[in-house]
Amino acid sequence: MKFKRGLVKRKMAKIIDGKTISLDIKNEVKQIAENLVEKGVKPCLAVILVGQNPASQVYVRNKKTACEYCGIKSLSYELDESISEKELLDLIDKLNENKECNGILVQLPLPKHIDENKVLLRISPEKDVDGFHPYNVGLLSIGKAELKACTPAGCIELIKRSGVDISGKNCVVVGRSNIVGKPVSMLLLAENGTVTICHSKTKDIKAVCKEADILVAAVGIPNFIKGDMVKEGVVVIDVGINRLENGKLCGDVDFEEVEKKASYITPVPGGVGPMTIAMLMKNCIVACKNQNNI
Ligand code: NDP
Repeated sequence: MKFKRGLVKRKMAKIIDGKTISLDIKNEVKQIAENLVEKGVKPCLAVILVGQNPASQVYVRNKKTACEYCGIKSLSYELDESISEKELLDLIDKLNENKECNGILVQLPLPKHIDENKVLLRISPEKDVDGFHPYNVGLLSIGKAELKACTPAGCIELIKRSGVDISGKNCVVVGRSNIVGKPVSMLLLAENGTVTICHSKTKDIKAVCKEADILVAAVGIPNFIKGDMVKEGVVVIDVGINRLENGKLCGDVDFEEVEKKASYITPVPGGVGPMTIAMLMKNCIVACKNQNNI
């Protein structure tokens, strides 16, 4: 290819397309679900929504649509905001007992009068398709998890399905939340990455990020990772979903700057976002197979 004098060939990262990869995963799930139905088992997910949080309503609707696509039955419980903690716990007990139901998902956040932790602990670990129960978190930390937290597991799929080998790589995770930073760090470690976790008290975060072969950003601050914080060839997974004042979505990574140096990068939207539901569907299948000894 010829370039005009004065023009420099710009290096561009390969964009990791979360929409396509998540669709591949949902199609794989659909195939397995069909095989299970042939064996007389219909995978089934119970989705519980308390109150009328508009964002939660959208998430729940998307989860039900994904179930339909994948051939997973969904049981829907849309409960009034005023429901008591006891009533919610009783419903979870009933679903724990219900042999037809393989997975239980309680959409967060819950109203303030309900103790989220108590609710998540009540879900039977084998039906914990969000992977938030301490039992499953413990399994994750010893490298034996079957039901892995969905967004972190989605990050690993994005990396692996892009053909990037994690083994031996310097992996830097920015963020240490229980739902993203910590579990994604454990999963990278399980893939033999050399993992460093950064957080708000980390000194010289730029120096740490510059060492990364693989960088996962889960900070919740728009455009936090700048071009001068990464090295050439880095693989960047941007978990952040931030709504800007103009209504647009943006990640934790300054895409325009970082894309010029990265070898692979996820966009926002269309990167990690669609993976969460795909991995939830995968977890439903894992739970269903385990419960039926298949
Ligand atoms: P949290 O707010 O729970 O955690 C943010 C983490 O970032 C904390 O560990 C915090 O450190 C760290 N942090 C904050 N400020 C800084 C700083 N200045 N320097 C270094 N570290 C800092 O967020 P989540 O993990 O829940 O989510 C992170 C992002 O991912 C959000 O944008 C969220 O919307 C998105 N997300 C996307 C999902 C998806 O499906 N794609 C799913 C879940 C989340 P400390 O612990 O010290 O406070």
